Amino acid sequence: MTTHNTLSGCVTHYDPQALPVSAAQAIVLQWVTPITASERVPLPDALARVLAHDVISPIDVPAHDNSAMDGYAFDGAALAAATGMLTLDIAGKAFAGHPFTGEMPPGACVRIMTGAPMPAGCDTVVPQENTRREGDSVAFAANAVSRSANRRRKGEDLAKGRAALRAGRVLRASDIGLLASLGIVDVDVKQRLRVAYFSTGDELRTPGSPLDAGCIYDSNRYTLGAMLKRLDVEAIDLGMVRDEPAALAATLKAAAQSADVVLTSGGVSVGDADFTRTQLQTLGDVEFWGLAMRPGRPLAFGRIWSGGQPGAGRPALLFGLPGNPVATMVTFYQIVRPALLAMAGAAPQPVPLIPARCEIPIKKRPGRTEFQRGVAVRDSEGHWRVAPTGSQSSGALSTMSEANCFIVLAHEAASLDAGDTVDIMLFDGLV
Ligand code: AMP
Ligand code: MG
Repeated sequence: MTTHNTLSGCVTHYDPQALPVSAAQAIVLQWVTPITASERVPLPDALARVLAHDVISPIDVPAHDNSAMDGYAFDGAALAAATGMLTLDIAGKAFAGHPFTGEMPPGACVRIMTGAPMPAGCDTVVPQENTRREGDSVAFAANAVSRSANRRRKGEDLAKGRAALRAGRVLRASDIGLLASLGIVDVDVKQRLRVAYFSTGDELRTPGSPLDAGCIYDSNRYTLGAMLKRLDVEAIDLGMVRDEPAALAATLKAAAQSADVVLTSGGVSVGDADFTRTQLQTLGDVEFWGLAMRPGRPLAFGRIWSGGQPGAGRPALLFGLPGNPVATMVTFYQIVRPALLAMAGAAPQPVPLIPARCEIPIKKRPGRTEFQRGVAVRDSEGHWRVAPTGSQSSGALSTMSEANCFIVLAHEAASLDAGDTVDIMLFDGLV
């Protein structure tokens, strides 16, 4: 353990080569400066963007009391006096968009469709299926409906003057619809975060080109590009960089010039070709080098400066991710993603952890957080059960594709027996 001064002036007591994940997440968030600049975009383009200001509802939604059913609207006071059947004369019709404006004599009703404004004097709707039509009248059992039933009240979804959505909201489909329901056509969102990324390694080849002896296809740039797309940032693909200090330095400087955040993959371990690590030491100020995490032990975090040394030119936040493809993804999801969201101005949105019964024993030693790939299913009693995918190799990307969740084994946790409860983090969501 070493005492370690962070740039932000705080002092931690962790080994900067193997920080606990929670400490790393906290340090990273201290370094984040959320984007302040905003831009106005048309509503259909606002999905996944970060709302810049609170949106206050300019109107009541719905704008008027209306019917929740197809049926007959009437004054529910009639129910109190009635015993057995109630028969009401039909005074007219109300459709959505076409209110009933006629006279309604006492004891009458209005044929009404879903969404039609409630006629004056009516507070109750008896659903059509509970009625019997008798010429110009309708009959129904008085106990088939209670007073005020099937009436949607003005402003019940959103009252005028109330905050419909808060600043920092990452807009979802429902939010786009909600804003439309307020009559809003465009919306102020935070400017997109610019994230530059590249892969390093002499062994890398671009998919589509021949695979030379001893080489592999560059997959990390594709997973990174795809994960960034999901976050709706402006992703800047800087390609593949060879394990050459000068090439790395040039790309890192260019990246800091053009982006708010720079992601690299590979070269941060302690091998003889791990030049990303040495270049970061020269060009930037690195806060920590590794996590007490599996996969993902080597991970560099700090800043890189476009001017080629700390303090010179423009700084960009830097995440030097490990080259092993699963480690790249796990460190992205656990460390980079929350930081990018915070920088993009998004309000914190913790990913839910769900308890599940572990189907087989898992070996684990205390002192690091593990993110195993798992397949979770919900059993017939509604309980989640999970088993790790076979291999947990940090190079085997197929295990990420096979899995539907991370099995999260906490820093202090030791080995588990079959039947023990573990936390899982599901990959897939609805929205
Ligand atoms: P490194 O972190 O550079 O030592 O790389 C660790 C492992 O990940 C090595 O087996 C590399 O060949 C592999 N690797 C590094 N970068 C990539 C990449 N972009 N795509 C796929 N595998 C990679
Ligand atoms: Mg390498």
